[in-house]
Amino acid sequence: MAQMWIAGEWQDSASGETYDIINPANGEKVDNAPKGNADDARRAIAAAEAALGAMAASSAEQRGLWLEKMVELVRERKQELAETLTKEQGKPIGEANTEMEHFLHGLHFYAGLASKYRGSYVPLPAKDTYGIVMKQPIGVCAGIVPWNFPITLMGTKIGPAIAAGNSIVVKPASSTPLTALKVCALLSEAGVPKGAINCISGPGGVVGEELVQNPKVRRVAFTGESATGRHIGEVCGRMLKRVTLELGGSDPMIVCDDANVEEAAKWGTIGRYYNNGQACLAVKRVFVFDSVYEEFLDKLAARVKRYKPADPLNPKTWMGPMHSRAQRDEIGEQVEDALARGAKAVVGGQKLEGAEYARGNWFAPALLTDVPDDARIVKEESFGPALPVFRVRDLDEALEKANASDYGLGSSIWTRNLGNAYKAAERIEAGNVWVNSLHYGYDEMPFGGVKASGIGREHGPEALDYYLEPKGVVLNVG
Ligand code: NAD
Repeated sequence: MAQMWIAGEWQDSASGETYDIINPANGEKVDNAPKGNADDARRAIAAAEAALGAMAASSAEQRGLWLEKMVELVRERKQELAETLTKEQGKPIGEANTEMEHFLHGLHFYAGLASKYRGSYVPLPAKDTYGIVMKQPIGVCAGIVPWNFPITLMGTKIGPAIAAGNSIVVKPASSTPLTALKVCALLSEAGVPKGAINCISGPGGVVGEELVQNPKVRRVAFTGESATGRHIGEVCGRMLKRVTLELGGSDPMIVCDDANVEEAAKWGTIGRYYNNGQACLAVKRVFVFDSVYEEFLDKLAARVKRYKPADPLNPKTWMGPMHSRAQRDEIGEQVEDALARGAKAVVGGQKLEGAEYARGNWFAPALLTDVPDDARIVKEESFGPALPVFRVRDLDEALEKANASDYGLGSSIWTRNLGNAYKAAERIEAGNVWVNSLHYGYDEMPFGGVKASGIGREHGPEALDYYLEPKGVVLNVG
């Protein structure tokens, strides 16, 4: 049975209660996880608080070395961890390995940055008086993580939090705690003070809520749904806590008449169907110029037809089950809603329920055309393998439609014309624009959203600033 990782030790929940973690591929139990409650969250927060002194006393260089050591320790167990990830999340083993690599790359990035951030020296108008802007750790951080990328999205919080000298309590999604718990225990072997990294499992509304409401937590890093993020933002606003909110998306992809259509179809397919479409920055709406529409659609359809949902532990599998029944039903309802409003299914678009798929959460990838603008799949975030493709006249129409969304996370434009690329980059309402490339969150680049997609940034040196408090110090040396 899994245990929580608190104060450098494996611990059961205060209540002794557990719950089952279910394999999305076959409905079987993978393991039990401790059903944490507010007492457990408080215990983890106390452990993180107790570690602050030792964290503050550590040198920035030391913290960088700890992070490097963490990379080494996790890499040694990568395959085993990836298998646990596949069993609890449902993603194909190849994708689970890629997720582990992305996590390690992120930690390595912050290991390098730990001793390289800078404050500043400020000349002041008063005689013999100088200013220094120090940057200090904020204190106890909470990292609240969703189920779609449980490990990389934990790393985007642990990396900068530790590099900056904070301690952290991680709360994975209740359905995907197993890999995260193992990884946090391994990270702690790198030599960080006991309690610097804690990981607790249990319901978001109980354990996560305590992390957000507890005054000892000074910084909340949340990734998840926009509705949950709004609530967390309200609480943090009231309590004047530092908060970043990485929320949902409905990323547009624009394919111009001068695009490399083959490449656009290839990366558009991966952009939408990777992780079974359960990605915040998945391509969720495609706008194609009239003159290349048929060619693009044919190429896209041919690629989508190659996906055959199958056993995610088989290394040859590209697409596994969806993470949960609820998730499968929701994308199914969004597709049905679009079809009922006159859309056409060029490929697939139904739940897979034959004998082969009797257990688990299976869905046939879908490609839709003629989807009206008021369909749910256009207006809401769609978190599954279904993609609507729209025909547009020109870039102005594409940009207008791309921006007609509550969300603003990622976006892309496919064109050989630098003017088009620049115009789109300037006018798209999104935190990220990719030109002729896959929607991918590079560790080196700031990543985050505008509008309902959130506030603040993860990744890059920019994210480190969200874990540091600037302090103005005025020195009179006269
Ligand atoms: P979710 O909001 O349901 O849950 C996210 C986390 O919040 C979980 O750990 C959950 O237990 C916890 N939680 C739930 N209620 C809480 C509360 N009251 N207080 C504190 N914590 C609480 O999201 P999900 O369904 O797990 O994840 C999918 C969503 O995440 C999608 O909308 C997706 O777009 C978004 N997402 C965004 C990004 C990004 O970087 N912008 C990345 C990945 C996923």
